[in-house]
Amino acid sequence: MIQSLIIPVLYLLSAVFFILGLKLLSHPKSAPRGNFVAAIGMFIAILATLLNNKILSYELIFSGIIIGALIGSIAARRVKMTSIPQLVALFNGFGGGASLLVASAEFYRIENTIEIFIFCAVLLSIFIGGITLTGSIIAFAKLQGIIRGSAIRFKGQNLLNALLFLLIIVGAFLAINERVDFSTVIILSISISLILGYLGVIPIGGADMPVVISLLNSFSGLAAATTGFVLVNNSLIISGSLVGASGIILTNIMCKGMNRTIWNVLFTGLGFNDKINQSSSENDPSRIAKSYEPEDTVVIFENAKKIIIVPGYGMAVAQAQQVVSELEKVLESKGVNVKYAIHPVAGRMPGHMNVLLAEANISYDKLYDIDDINPEFEQADIAIVIGANDVVNPAARHDQSSPLFGMPILDVDKSQTVFILKRSMNPGFAGIENQLFFNDNSIMLFGDAKETVSRLVSELKQA
Ligand code: NAP
Repeated sequence: MIQSLIIPVLYLLSAVFFILGLKLLSHPKSAPRGNFVAAIGMFIAILATLLNNKILSYELIFSGIIIGALIGSIAARRVKMTSIPQLVALFNGFGGGASLLVASAEFYRIENTIEIFIFCAVLLSIFIGGITLTGSIIAFAKLQGIIRGSAIRFKGQNLLNALLFLLIIVGAFLAINERVDFSTVIILSISISLILGYLGVIPIGGADMPVVISLLNSFSGLAAATTGFVLVNNSLIISGSLVGASGIILTNIMCKGMNRTIWNVLFTGLGFNDKINQSSSENDPSRIAKSYEPEDTVVIFENAKKIIIVPGYGMAVAQAQQVVSELEKVLESKGVNVKYAIHPVAGRMPGHMNVLLAEANISYDKLYDIDDINPEFEQADIAIVIGANDVVNPAARHDQSSPLFGMPILDVDKSQTVFILKRSMNPGFAGIENQLFFNDNSIMLFGDAKETVSRLVSELKQA
């Protein structure tokens, strides 16, 4: 009864919770509930697995759960917000690695009686899981600065990848036709997939790593789904497919936000890091950026009715979200209408700005997507750019030679006055100069964003 009825029903129930959780995750307000609902789904799935009478050792399982939970919670608590992409990369890699190990173990358990369909599922699981494992480790190492972030390429790289891939296909074909052992092909696939993960990610510049991580996240889901076919586990098939699909959707959103295609990211090997242009402003006296101290800005703020705040990566680095919330309150107490403009790729991971602003209890209703806020910049008295650079670079609109060309940007330059808070004239992620800084209506407020906003707040409180 437990084996034939209760376990499948529990797995189905867990899948329902996963889908409901995902639905709730689609809006920031319901996202915490979504997380909770999905966690209940996972709890039910684990419970169903533990009820299985084929389990050999509960001691081993509980030791694994305790050790894994300890490592996971310590890592998640210690990691800085700006290092979350690296942590996600590692999680994806371990997910892929787990699929590879589980599928391989199942293969050796049923090697002598394996059906062709299950053999193909094992191969797929190993192939995707292996690529995810080594690809994610390389992505982690690039982002963490352990290995060079720029694209590492050699001649014939794509051809070599294609040949290695072909070798697995030929091996599988021969094994299915009983010309070679299944186990030989399994070992070959494990080795090749691990090599392909490495070869696939090293030619991609560090700048594109967040997109790669999102894609690898999708792969880890697909690897889990194929492992679900190996184990004949519906819950794993459904949850893996959900991760696979959502990862692909996220990858697509990020590519659109950067105006690149996924093929361009994966196969051109450029990344922005290779295109760094040095600022030409030092040699050109006509291109001088105006710089004020926060105290000099009070008059402009006093006359403003509508202000749009544009957060970027620098706000995350400075951890300025709490003082930004204070700034909003001071401005609103003076009758100013304050809104936030959120670019889809501001920061270093999807939703980066939303998460930080939510941490400071800034209302979601004040956060506007690029399409909704762009028409409003023309009516804004002030745009305050806090540690954002590429997402407000007007070169994206007209400079065909710019690596940013075509990327949708926030039209801050159309506001009456633009305050730009950053520490120097250094470029942002794309490594290119920003014409915005030299515009007549732009004013630089140099310094750490948290400090500058704090100074602004205290000046405005006294005014
Ligand atoms: P950005 O172009 O990287 O610029 C961030 C700016 O913040 C820098 O120019 C830096 O200038 C400033 N900054 C750093 N620390 C600061 C501090 N403590 N106080 C004040 N300013 C500070 O950031 P963005 O405008 O948010 O654009 C994001 C970029 O990341 C885009 O190119 C996007 O394509 C890329 N990207 C994003 C994602 C994603 O998922 N969000 C994924 C992949 C790629 P100073 O050094 O002069 O202070």
